[in-house]
Amino acid sequence: MNIFAIIILATLLIDFVLNLAADFYNLKSLEKSLPEEFSDVYDEETYEKSQEYTKVKTKFGLLTSSFNLVLLLVFWFAGGFNWLDEIVRGWELGTIWTGLTYIGMLLLAKSILSLPFSLYSTFVIEERFGFNKTTPKTFVLDLLKGLGLGILLGGPLLAGLLAFFTYIDQYAWLYAWGAVTAFTLFIQFVAPTWIMPLFNDFDPLEEGELRQKIREYADKVNFALEGVYVMDGSKRSSKSNAFFTGFGKNKRIALYDTLIENHTEDELVAVLAHEIGHYKKKHIIKNMVISIAQTGIMFFLLSIFLNSEGLYDAFYMEQMSVYVGLIFFGMLYAPIDMIVSIFMQVLSRKYEFEADNFAATTFRKEPMVEALKKLSKDNLSNLTPHPFYVFLNYSHPPVLERIKVIRATD
Ligand SMILES: [Zn+2]
Repeated sequence: MNIFAIIILATLLIDFVLNLAADFYNLKSLEKSLPEEFSDVYDEETYEKSQEYTKVKTKFGLLTSSFNLVLLLVFWFAGGFNWLDEIVRGWELGTIWTGLTYIGMLLLAKSILSLPFSLYSTFVIEERFGFNKTTPKTFVLDLLKGLGLGILLGGPLLAGLLAFFTYIDQYAWLYAWGAVTAFTLFIQFVAPTWIMPLFNDFDPLEEGELRQKIREYADKVNFALEGVYVMDGSKRSSKSNAFFTGFGKNKRIALYDTLIENHTEDELVAVLAHEIGHYKKKHIIKNMVISIAQTGIMFFLLSIFLNSEGLYDAFYMEQMSVYVGLIFFGMLYAPIDMIVSIFMQVLSRKYEFEADNFAATTFRKEPMVEALKKLSKDNLSNLTPHPFYVFLNYSHPPVLERIKVIRATD
């Protein structure tokens, strides 16, 4: 085994073990009795159900990640990457098409193999806890739309990247960086108007008392109200949520219809205030800048390692090529990616506190607290996650911490 193989294998195993430990501690820290704060929204039965949901999801997640790890290791050490390469090369499709076919086949195989897991998660687990509203038809259509978008949007981008690293000797990484940046900005910009409506209906929030209340608040904080939409989240799940997307003229806040159903008007204004807080505190732009910088570093490192023979030897390849190089580098980059993603989660949790603070100071504390409590109940969230699990996996701080911080706001 050479150094590349050792780094990649070690990363895969360390990642698996860290998550296993986090799962273990997380299950151990499920509290026996309901935290006092929630006594007004939860009953004993719902609380037990939420604990059971965490347990079932954790076990299922462990099964999925074990399966994926074993699958990858078997494919790797049985020489699967070279085997597939010989087949695809045999078709003599030309450099770029060979690369697209090779990567496309691996992605297709991975999604076919993960299909049973996704079916089980939607139609067995989510169903059992009363969340699932997805019909088989919606499920199939989602798959097909996802596949179509992947080919239509991902295909040309991948072809461009392969071409840069095949035909341009120097500075290919700069071209790749520019292309991916332009692509990301384009997707962010068109997502609210072109892509997301393929999956859900977005209707502008209707005139009425709620809209009137929101208008008063939006005027106060100087936010254009045209961007508030109601999304038919109930098409797939009874869980509720709200989110912010896009930028410039295309920016939108989407409230799930399920959210509107289960919350009072004041709570909805508070949730909206939280989302506007993300916008006003420039969280979306900041994240974009960080991810663009990270992409640049990644492509620069890729350009260094793409021609290292050892990287191909580690996977028993007989020939070097840009397309397999991309895949192998992706695995070599995993340790950096892991560190970056933990950092991004830390940042994201900080943003959530800032958005809560914005809602508490520009609107009111109590409806924000009530909204968070109801959201936890409706989504059967784990109320007492273990700090190590939170550190690795949570994009939002645990709800009890958020409530404490909101209450302490001046
Ligand atoms: Zn948020």
